Amino acid sequence: MIEFKGTFFDGRSSKAHAVSIYSDGQRIRIAGNADGLPLVFQIQECRLTPPLGKTRRSILLPDGGRCDTHDLQAFGKLDSIKGANRTFRLVDFIESRWRLVVGCLAGLIACVWIFTAHGIPFAAKKIAFSLPPDVMESVSQKTLQALDDGFFETSVLVPEKANQVQQIFDQLLAEEDVEFHYRLELRSSPRAGPNAFALPAGIVVMTDELVSLAKEDRELIGILVHEKAHVENRHGLRMLFQNTGVFLLISLLAGDVASITSIAATLPTILVESGYSRQFEREADLAAGTYLIRKGWGTRPLQDMLQRLAEKKPGYPALAAMSTHPETGQRIRYLQDLEASQTR
Ligand SMILES: [Zn+2]
Repeated sequence: MIEFKGTFFDGRSSKAHAVSIYSDGQRIRIAGNADGLPLVFQIQECRLTPPLGKTRRSILLPDGGRCDTHDLQAFGKLDSIKGANRTFRLVDFIESRWRLVVGCLAGLIACVWIFTAHGIPFAAKKIAFSLPPDVMESVSQKTLQALDDGFFETSVLVPEKANQVQQIFDQLLAEEDVEFHYRLELRSSPRAGPNAFALPAGIVVMTDELVSLAKEDRELIGILVHEKAHVENRHGLRMLFQNTGVFLLISLLAGDVASITSIAATLPTILVESGYSRQFEREADLAAGTYLIRKGWGTRPLQDMLQRLAEKKPGYPALAAMSTHPETGQRIRYLQDLEASQTR
């Protein structure tokens, strides 16, 4: 029991009354001779003025009255009761609403996941499809330059072979109206091995090693249509923007379009090291497979090429561009299923 002396004001007049104040830790009881006393309040309903040096302290009562005291030691005990109770009430609040707390956390995680899984790819696609041709051209030129510096050497194909590949590519482009200014770049690459890369503006780079790996034109056609689909679907740009998603969004919100060209500096690394996503490879395989089926050749040429690439790949473990995602076996099965469904 806490007990101390104080002065009571009833809140209606300025008259002071000497009182005794008691507390059992739950309630405060004010006893004295004034009219209306004794009064009892729950301690949690009362406000305690904060300590200020050695000055008197007050209990502010819920009915507008007030008790002052100079017994700071006794008042300190009231402080600790209220403080302890406040902590206890917070724990009690969380305990009684833990489902709400867990629900809020789960909601937050879901929002972050949805934004990452859908929001960023959606924004990346929008931006990739709205990029002006001159920006794509400049990104492509810089990317080719970086690849030339790091991976490629001048093509050493005999001119007849180089001309043959160029003709295949030209025929392919002549079959339909093409939106891009396509061009074929042949390179030798002992480091990259048999490989092909599609750059955003329509530059398709094919290595001598890949040309040599093909046993017939249809296999090269399959690869070229696949790369063309990467260009048309803006897969390279979309990978670039997805990989730099948050940074990109911040730049765009800040109205800094110039930074798109600066983040494009990472495109060579993405093309060479991480390759396209599983979904993008599938879209490109669908385009190539559909083309080959329409020609009446079936998907076999591309399947054979993928198989041979997979057998060569252990010699070039650093390169993801042609055959890492998804695994070759899955890609071949996909092409077989596609043929079965389209020729049924
Ligand atoms: Zn691909």
